[in-house]
Amino acid sequence: MTIPFIEPFRIKVVEKVRMTTREERVAALRAAHYNLFAVRGEDVFIDLLTDSGTGAMSDEQWAGMMHGDESYAGAKSYYHFEQAIQNILGFPYVLPTHQGRAAEGMLFKSLVKAGQTVPNNRHFDTTMGNLQVLGANPVDIPVAESADSEVELPFKGNMDLEGLEALIKKTGVENIPLGMLTITNNSAAGQPVSMDNIRATAEIYHRYGIPFFIDACRFGENAWFIKLRDPKYKNTPVREIVREMFSYADGCTMSAKKDGMVNIGGFIAFRDPELKGQIGANLIVHEGFLTYGGLAGRDLEALAIGLNEVVDEDYLNYRESHTRYLGEVLSAAGMPVYKPTGGHAVYVDAGKAFPGIPKRQFPAVGLANALYITGGIRTVEIGSLMFEHADPETGELMLAPLELVRFAIPRRVYTRSHLDYIGEAAAECMKRPELVKGLRVTWAPKVLRHFMAQLEEIE
Ligand SMILES: *Cc1c(COP(=O)(O)O)cnc(C)c1O
Repeated sequence: MTIPFIEPFRIKVVEKVRMTTREERVAALRAAHYNLFAVRGEDVFIDLLTDSGTGAMSDEQWAGMMHGDESYAGAKSYYHFEQAIQNILGFPYVLPTHQGRAAEGMLFKSLVKAGQTVPNNRHFDTTMGNLQVLGANPVDIPVAESADSEVELPFKGNMDLEGLEALIKKTGVENIPLGMLTITNNSAAGQPVSMDNIRATAEIYHRYGIPFFIDACRFGENAWFIKLRDPKYKNTPVREIVREMFSYADGCTMSAKKDGMVNIGGFIAFRDPELKGQIGANLIVHEGFLTYGGLAGRDLEALAIGLNEVVDEDYLNYRESHTRYLGEVLSAAGMPVYKPTGGHAVYVDAGKAFPGIPKRQFPAVGLANALYITGGIRTVEIGSLMFEHADPETGELMLAPLELVRFAIPRRVYTRSHLDYIGEAAAECMKRPELVKGLRVTWAPKVLRHFMAQLEEIE
């Protein structure tokens, strides 16, 4: 079962974590109304809530922080960042934002009107939320295989191309201000999108005159999967794969907290110089001046370095093997793992593992909570608590296609023994299904309810 992989770095700074007692965790979860988002970080032993902004920066990045230029306008660090975007992604223009959702918000406020539709292979929750608050309709068009956690296919993150074209015809191009594609497909188990699918998606959008934006959060991981899984790209350097992926798009939004290898940051990059003017005023009002967008100069410096580190093939090889190893550990513990393993996370099909708990009782929340009580491990539900919504046409309540628990892996943070420990806690939960309880929502806001929902266990 063991896959040989070695961290291509050594550890220079360490951070102490504390193992809590079971009683402490039971109390912490009850105080959090059974929502792991409300548990304090210091009450978590291994935190796999998200890979967003939780990574470890390199010595080069920390050194870069000291070189950060804090000039309000035209800081040296901004130009380093702009150069990294131009060299690595290939977009001539970029506007920094404090994180990915701000990039989405800025772009959508400039382009999208109420009642309009935005297609995507699968919207991330904040992307969906940003459109919903504008009164627009986010529509997901994943390939059918993406809802099958068993079938081993190389690119289950792909867009359903026929579905996309059908949607465009039905909705009318005048009602689609832009089209998106998320690489890798975070909400669909972190599955990659193939180069052929990126190209074909772009071709469809452009044939109808629809601007095409990539949600680029994990572009490095997506490029690595293209190299691993598409024989045509076996010998192509990752940097070239990245350039080709973005060459098909008019722009991208990105949370730099993922493959930017930093703890905070985001941006919108694009080709149309007009867009700078359209987005610029909004950016200045909400984020900051055009050359810092809500970030400190030192953050931009670290990001410029991080964008270069994420396309390092030794790093990407380690990253993919490390994540795949956790998938094997969880499979060995008896958990139905979504196959194949994605880039940044392992997803476990809790609906399948605990068929006795109805979807409406959120089996994936039940499993995530049991993992916390058992081992102090924090994961997150990617299921109906996160994605339940009313169908815009029928008003019918739609549940998520799968009830998943996501084990997201912070970049360059945990070692293999951490992963083995997670496997032991997982095995305990599978052996004692009575630990996993159904839940009901006692309070929740209308949009993005999973972050704030309060729940209670159903006995
Ligand atoms: C994280 C993420 C976002 C939002 O970025 P934040 O930095 O968290 O605001 C958008 N899309 C995808 C696919 C993401 O994973």
